Amino acid sequence: MLKTLDIVIPIYNENGCIDELLKRLLNLREDLSKENLDTRFIFVNDGSTDNSLQMLEGYAEKYKCVKIINFSRNFGHEIAVIAGLDNSTGDYTAIIDADLQDPPELIKDMYKKIQEGYQVAYGKRLKRKDENAFKKVTAYLFYRLLNKLCDIKLPTDTGNFRLITADVRNAITKVREHKRFIRGIAVWVGFKSVPVYYDREGRFAGETHYPLSAMLKLALAAIFEMSTAPITLIWWLASILFIAFLAFLIAGQHIISAIMFVGFIQVIATAIVGLYSGRIYEETRNRPLYIIDKITNNN
Ligand code: UDP
Ligand code: MG
Repeated sequence: MLKTLDIVIPIYNENGCIDELLKRLLNLREDLSKENLDTRFIFVNDGSTDNSLQMLEGYAEKYKCVKIINFSRNFGHEIAVIAGLDNSTGDYTAIIDADLQDPPELIKDMYKKIQEGYQVAYGKRLKRKDENAFKKVTAYLFYRLLNKLCDIKLPTDTGNFRLITADVRNAITKVREHKRFIRGIAVWVGFKSVPVYYDREGRFAGETHYPLSAMLKLALAAIFEMSTAPITLIWWLASILFIAFLAFLIAGQHIISAIMFVGFIQVIATAIVGLYSGRIYEETRNRPLYIIDKITNNN
């Protein structure tokens, strides 16, 4: 039976990549059609200021399988991916960057994994070419820190590049938070996942749209979205002050110990307020309490 695959591609000023990207995507579509898979492309133009949109429109005229969602302005990479997922109706959905750092051909290997019964096949980077030492080190630290802080375990060296089933897609799009970190949510929703390894190439053309400031923003979104760990830090601070208070008290330094005690009271008060606001935060996010994979005998 013919199945459908949507490939979601966020586009922000990628005019140097689009021709090569389309060439490789159309080849992939040809290959996948031999596996009874009908592939469609969902390009989300995230407020490009170059001629990316015009180039895409040219392809859309020629190929029915090219769909374009054009944003009114730049909303950011993660939101562009969500819009793509929202507009995807296929049996499967893949997410890939436009700059060919993620090889489109790997989607074939991902599809094999899905056929084996996995619901998520995610790209895991072995090597990162062309990325400077700073980006490598910060990416390395970012994933390790996040895993220390978060309640769920994010696979390391993994971006948004992945192939998921419609069930997983529907679960991900149920999460409607504004500040979003898709990789985190993709793990949070669960489902049977498997890595597919690849070497990360350099950008085909153009420059990264993730300067340090954007990376920091993403890191903060990830930490605050996936955990309330920063609030626990305040508890640690309070404990340290309390121990200092006791130590100075025992040492007979009454004035300093009194200062420590006042400090302790203040910090603990902040921590309590923090815990309440953490709960309010969790409630207002309105995430579904659970995600169901399958119900058997649902009459
Ligand atoms: N992108 C986007 N909106 C933005 C920034 C980036 O849609 O505001 C797209 C971009 O066109 C690319 C993908 O997101 O397809 C990843 O961006 P980039 O390659 O610049 O990030 P990096 O690989 O350097 O982390
Ligand atoms: Mg890139």
